[in-house]
Amino acid sequence: MNRPFTLAALTTLALTSVVTTAAAGSPEPAARVPKVLVIGIDGALLSKIQAFDTPALKGLISSGSASRTTLYASPFAPTLSGPGWATNATGVWPDKHKVKSNNWGSSSNLTQYPDFLTRIERARPALSTYAIADWTPLTTDSAGQAIFTDEVQQKVTLDGDALGWAAADAKIATDAAAYLKNTGPDASFVYFGNVDIAGHSCGAAGACYRTALEQTDRHIAALLTAIRARTTYSNEDWTYLVTADHGHTDAGGHGGSSVAERSSFIIRSGAGTTPGTPAIAPKNVDLAAIVLSRFGISAPDLDGQATASTDPFDSLVNSLQTRADETGVPADVKGWTHTTPAGWTIDNTAMGTGGVREWQGWSFATDDFWTRAAPDQGREGNVRARGVFAVADSDEWSDKTRTGLFNSKLKSPAYAVSGATSATLTFSSHYLKSGNETATVLASFDGATPKPILTYTADAVAKLERLTIPVPAGARTLTLTWSLANGDNDWYWAVDNPQLSRN
Ligand SMILES: [Zn+2]
Repeated sequence: MNRPFTLAALTTLALTSVVTTAAAGSPEPAARVPKVLVIGIDGALLSKIQAFDTPALKGLISSGSASRTTLYASPFAPTLSGPGWATNATGVWPDKHKVKSNNWGSSSNLTQYPDFLTRIERARPALSTYAIADWTPLTTDSAGQAIFTDEVQQKVTLDGDALGWAAADAKIATDAAAYLKNTGPDASFVYFGNVDIAGHSCGAAGACYRTALEQTDRHIAALLTAIRARTTYSNEDWTYLVTADHGHTDAGGHGGSSVAERSSFIIRSGAGTTPGTPAIAPKNVDLAAIVLSRFGISAPDLDGQATASTDPFDSLVNSLQTRADETGVPADVKGWTHTTPAGWTIDNTAMGTGGVREWQGWSFATDDFWTRAAPDQGREGNVRARGVFAVADSDEWSDKTRTGLFNSKLKSPAYAVSGATSATLTFSSHYLKSGNETATVLASFDGATPKPILTYTADAVAKLERLTIPVPAGARTLTLTWSLANGDNDWYWAVDNPQLSRN
């Protein structure tokens, strides 16, 4: 079934368990109380957490899950703290929350897309929330545009620049441990800033970065110990989430488009966690959705998902290959294929010959592979695709001798539409318009000549398309085609998560 239905079903389940909790005096054992702790480590890299002496974080990973994930890059948004934490807190990408620097002032859209703690306060005011941080824009802002709003029940701001970052982080650990132990808010955000400061000072490959990350792990150990010492702990279901806002280069620094700078991760443990490495890694926007789902709160305007959805293209995850002609991608990175998912076909009868093999006609690729093939050309902005997606890239194809033009069609299976009056097609689309190429979606009923239902005349950056297609009386099947025609060293089109529902 489609995603809104799944979310609604989850919401109902979660609410049921919450209501059971509230039914005091019930003869059955009461459901345990959900609690969530989100820990933010500025500028942390999962690869370093795994390499260093970090027993607290490794304990969360071994009892739960950990996966690396990748952020955008400019021009979509730079890999800076403002966009990174706003994305983690709001559950939407920077084109929605509009925090695109560290000085967003009143230009953001945080009012429309508030942080997850504020959403909890609004949806279920009886729940308690808590945020503590030493990067001040997270929790305090004179223009009223802090990432965590004043509606958060208990908010503590320390000034890392004024106190010194190691000292500020230490005070956060002490204060948060006491508050978690004695008050035990339902949802918390605890932030540590010193790892990022160390990254800027000595680089992710430097000794001070290691020292800071290992110290942060001891802070996290103190938080976990405090929670387990709660007198009501045995009646509580704690969920732990740990993430970062961006990575760091080995030499130190971030803001750019390198793999290290775009690196983030989600560590998840405790209630609601499926242990083991997820087949399709969650994204930073999922964090808020996961937190809200623990309290039965639905937020359909989020980009994030509490439960990973899969699409037909993700079935290719085990078919991915290492590079053929691409030189920018490391030789061990598997991330492209011309294999199609069951029922899907690629029509290359009008396709030119030669060119870069990976991109000869429609391909399937991962963000890691596709963006490394050619960084800083906007491919990093394809944030609403997940896992494996479809790509028609006449720009990259043309980087090797070829004849003719890029003419390729990606065709869906025949969807049954008998009895429906219309069908709704949704997919994520990342298209850059260039020259005379034509990007079109076509619909065909019962094998008749396909007719265009969408033709791009301008860019579609990280767009979610939703097309309603009237179904003629008596029609039995609908087949969809994504066609990129007459590409001549023009840009690209990435498509993901095609879903058809019948109305
Ligand atoms: Zn930084």
